[in-house]
Amino acid sequence: MFDSIVRHKRLLLLTLGLLVLIQITSYYWISRINEQIETLRHQNIVQTLSQDLYHQISEKQAASTAIALTLANDVSHLLAEHNDVQYQAFNDLIAQITQKSNYKNLWVQVMDSDGDIVYRNWTKESTNDAPVSELKLLQAPRKDIITDSFDLTIRITTPIFHQKLRVGFLCLISHFNSIQRYFEGKHIQTLAVVPPELAQTMQHPFSEHRKGGFYIANLDPNPTLMKQITGADLHRWTSQNARPTVWQDKLVVAIPLRNLNKAPQGTLLAFYPLEATHRLDAGAELLTTKNITLIANITLTLLLLSGLVTFLIKKQRDYFQRIINAEEEIVLVSNGERLIDANQQLYNHFDNFRTDKRDCICDYFVEEDGFLQKYMGDQLWLDYLLEHRNDIHRAKCVLHGETYIFKLKAHTLLPGSNLAVVVLVDITELEALSEQLLEQSRIDELTQIGNRRFFNDYMEQQISLAKRHRHPLSLIFFDIDHFKKVNDVYGHQTGDVALRTVVDTLSTQLRESDVFFRVGGEEFMIVLAHHPLNQAKEIAERLRKRVERIQEASLPHLTISLGVAELDTHETLEQLLHRIDLALYEAKSNGRNCVCTA
Ligand code: GH3
Ligand code: MG
Ligand code: MG
Repeated sequence: MFDSIVRHKRLLLLTLGLLVLIQITSYYWISRINEQIETLRHQNIVQTLSQDLYHQISEKQAASTAIALTLANDVSHLLAEHNDVQYQAFNDLIAQITQKSNYKNLWVQVMDSDGDIVYRNWTKESTNDAPVSELKLLQAPRKDIITDSFDLTIRITTPIFHQKLRVGFLCLISHFNSIQRYFEGKHIQTLAVVPPELAQTMQHPFSEHRKGGFYIANLDPNPTLMKQITGADLHRWTSQNARPTVWQDKLVVAIPLRNLNKAPQGTLLAFYPLEATHRLDAGAELLTTKNITLIANITLTLLLLSGLVTFLIKKQRDYFQRIINAEEEIVLVSNGERLIDANQQLYNHFDNFRTDKRDCICDYFVEEDGFLQKYMGDQLWLDYLLEHRNDIHRAKCVLHGETYIFKLKAHTLLPGSNLAVVVLVDITELEALSEQLLEQSRIDELTQIGNRRFFNDYMEQQISLAKRHRHPLSLIFFDIDHFKKVNDVYGHQTGDVALRTVVDTLSTQLRESDVFFRVGGEEFMIVLAHHPLNQAKEIAERLRKRVERIQEASLPHLTISLGVAELDTHETLEQLLHRIDLALYEAKSNGRNCVCTA
């Protein structure tokens, strides 16, 4: 695989480039979607919190208005009568209201029709913030949020009428503490803050809490929050157009607090727990787009990678296929029963392999002794090959009516696997040639019968067969008489003719099983399997007579002397030959043209 990678470096780089591009694009895309989701969530939170806050403020204002009207009604006659003493009883009424209502810090101020303060339920001195001219325009209660010299408060100012005459004004002031507690109930911390430019002008700040020039209107703000935030944070969060900011584990949402004239009076900071933002709806479309992007990324990446791997594997396969195709011999991979892989040479030789519907090369093996067969005993051919690695194995196959001989070698492909690489070498021609050579080395050229070497081989084989099967084996050994003279008188060529004539003549006298050999110049052997000595002797006599009768114009009269012997039970070839040699010698000594037995 590695070399395949090296060979296709450019493609690999291209794929890697594409992959990186896909990852970057989808990373960029997904982060944009995430941003949008976050923005959407933050917008949702801002919207919800603002709505919630303004709802709380207006509820508080509605309740305060009711209280203010009640108090105004109660105080109207006092104002009309200029009765300052009776304000003590009014005080008690306010104390009762604060005790029985949710508003623990209700501040009430009563002014006469000139705007002069005639009653106040707190002690700090101050001038009235609202100009009298403005107050005189009031026909009904005015609800407002105001930062004055005392505090940032929710404020109801209502005219006081007595017998349809305006006798004064009542101002009811409440704080953001109940709103703080309301949001705490929802696990959202809040701070009502006044910016430094307004805080500077506060002469009698009601709360003790300040941070970097900012005034914090809450009476008991969350202590941890107070410890953690800095003036710079407040500055950042309350600045104009400040978006929700992630700070620690919270989302800080700044909701501006404005008076009736839309003039900024302060900011309510809400600290929304971040973990709660994840539970918010994020916009189904955005989530779908995000999922589609993710799926598209994964699909594209997988496609590219699998495409690349498939391509490389295919190339690598092609590469190795080329290598084994370059090999002149048949190379194949098999498990003994099935062909797994092969080079082109297999199909060049066994061109019908596919159409023959054969699974295994062994299906072509001809069952013949001396050749590899599908089953060697009870062993499969491939196991046999692997086990007898050092032997030479040949298989015979018949293809298109012609016989082919292959030499086979097998090597285990992977340790522990039953796969093996088998190499088949076509040795058909070589085999024919060697057969021919073997034949030539055994045949005597002049007479075309077996020579001395063949005789020896043949005799070894016959002796062992005769001994094993306990059947008789006899030999006839003969020598042409006075052959030197034939050569001397008629010439060597005539001598050759004489030799051929004797062989041809006697060959016709012999049976198929009687094998004729030329073992010397004009010395011959005839091997008679299954013949005992007496029969061999009769045959020898017949042969002797037949030679005597040869009548060839070009040849002189020929005779032969013969020795006959039968193999003894424990005799070796050498001993047998020695005995028969003596028999022939005896025939020669007895005057030639006769048969002697050993
Ligand atoms: P004997 O009766 O005792 O056998 O006498 P001989 O002359 O036959 O003696 P021997 O067997 O020793 O002689 C063999 C002769 O055969 C010697 C050689 O000239 C001749 N000879 C051997 N091989 C060939 C051959 O291939 N061609 C021819 N023309 N003559 C051969
Ligand atoms: Mg001789
Ligand atoms: Mg002779």
